[in-house]
Amino acid sequence: MKTKMHGNPMFVAGKWIEKEDVIEVLNPQDNSFISTVPSASKEDMLLAIEEAKEGAKIAAKMPVHLRISILNKAAEHIEENQEKFAATIALEGSKTIREATAEVRRCIQTLKISAEEARRIHGETIPFDQAEGSEDRIGYYYRFPIGIIAAITPFNDPLNLVAHKVGPAIASGNAIIVKPATLTPLSALLLAEAFDYAGLPPKVLSVITGKGSKIGDLLVTHPAVRMVSFTGGLDTGEAIARKAGLKKISMELGSNSPVIVLSDADIETAVESTVSGAFYAVGQNCLGVQRIYIEEEIYEKFSTLFIDHVSKYKVGDKMLETTDMGPMINEREAIRVERWVDEAIAKGAKLLIGGERNGAFYSPTVLTDVPSNCTIAQQEIFGPVVLLYPVADFDSAIEKSNDVNYGLQAGIFTKDIDKAFEAIGRMDVGGIMINDSSDYRIDGMPFGGVKGSGIGREGVKFTIQEMTEPRVVSFKLAHKRLFS
Ligand code: NAP
Repeated sequence: MKTKMHGNPMFVAGKWIEKEDVIEVLNPQDNSFISTVPSASKEDMLLAIEEAKEGAKIAAKMPVHLRISILNKAAEHIEENQEKFAATIALEGSKTIREATAEVRRCIQTLKISAEEARRIHGETIPFDQAEGSEDRIGYYYRFPIGIIAAITPFNDPLNLVAHKVGPAIASGNAIIVKPATLTPLSALLLAEAFDYAGLPPKVLSVITGKGSKIGDLLVTHPAVRMVSFTGGLDTGEAIARKAGLKKISMELGSNSPVIVLSDADIETAVESTVSGAFYAVGQNCLGVQRIYIEEEIYEKFSTLFIDHVSKYKVGDKMLETTDMGPMINEREAIRVERWVDEAIAKGAKLLIGGERNGAFYSPTVLTDVPSNCTIAQQEIFGPVVLLYPVADFDSAIEKSNDVNYGLQAGIFTKDIDKAFEAIGRMDVGGIMINDSSDYRIDGMPFGGVKGSGIGREGVKFTIQEMTEPRVVSFKLAHKRLFS
């Protein structure tokens, strides 16, 4: 392993580079020092882009069997070093060790699926003779790699969300430059190590550590970069989309996901699933449950059971297997969450449990009667807070669910198949989970949102579609029709 305990280098086009100018990576639990990473300059980013020009040519020419074996070898390397990967995620981020271990397993899956999908990137024949005058044509299209991809990733899934861009990029013959979140760069560097170990040709992959505000513009505006694949917050995403200009854009943004619980639902299952969906990864989860609409006749029973479950949550040391919830990513974020909760309470919301902050720790919090003019009722909380709303009926639940500027995923609990199908048709989201919370994803399904939740879809096969372009081929024949 090349990563040092103190002072990690970054991965520039196959070379591990150290810099004097560094960024400290801290453990959000107690602000203890973990390591440093280089604070990349614009010159470093420019070098990565220049090298990626060559890398894109190398990647495109890599035979599919080689892409498959590199992706599988990287996955095997991660499997063999699972504990190190999980400890890194848990230390630099705010996931518990259990959540971090689950992310490592997902990352292995993402890379293995990428290896499988590499053999399924193909076009189809085109019946040109559908157009009068084209009876003498025969042809098809291929899918070609797009070239150089910029991947910008957030702190909350610091390994698997990077793998969701790197795996498909390699599978489809692209070069890729990753700019991981400054708060959690170490997991992305470990992923680069896995690909270095697996024999990925130099120049195909770079992981450039440094502040988005310093090196981001260069990466997203450079004309050689043909696609910006961004996962992060709405404001950052919108700013990047405005700057990027004429290139492909994929935006995986946030949400404040709704879940509807109808009176015929299995309440116990709905409670268990929504509590987990609300507080997984301290609620710093793009598809986490933020708003729960419960039919009035079961509201009391649901909310009592919900609070009972939340009161048993073990908050504490994220490195312990027994801990359910660790700290938020930093104290600043915990203070923001506290402010939003206090604002809601000042405007008339009722605090059912939680609402306490200790440094970066914020207790699992449940609010009800939240007026619609509160920040927390409209924006993405991205913290351990969930809002319970009693609703008169199904129609009102659907309308309220849709009445925000987000639409990533939603859930509905009901045994009524007609209502489930109606919800599928009426909810403005990228995915709807029947008898489950919004917090469900496997790595091979299409994933992404509508409205402020983004543009495009990830989920290996779908990312590959975004990272490739069709190229049409037409043969003009000497005779009119080749086939009768
Ligand atoms: P963020 O603040 O938007 O940052 C995301 C990334 O953008 C970071 O790497 C950041 O770098 C970079 N960045 C910031 N300014 C930039 C600029 N001017 N140019 C280029 N890059 C720039 O998001 P976050 O707080 O890390 O993550 C939380 C958000 O991500 C939430 O909204 C969450 O819902 C969303 N998310 C969405 C999905 C999904 O799949 N839909 C998944 C996970 C998370 P620095 O760290 O250096 O600032």
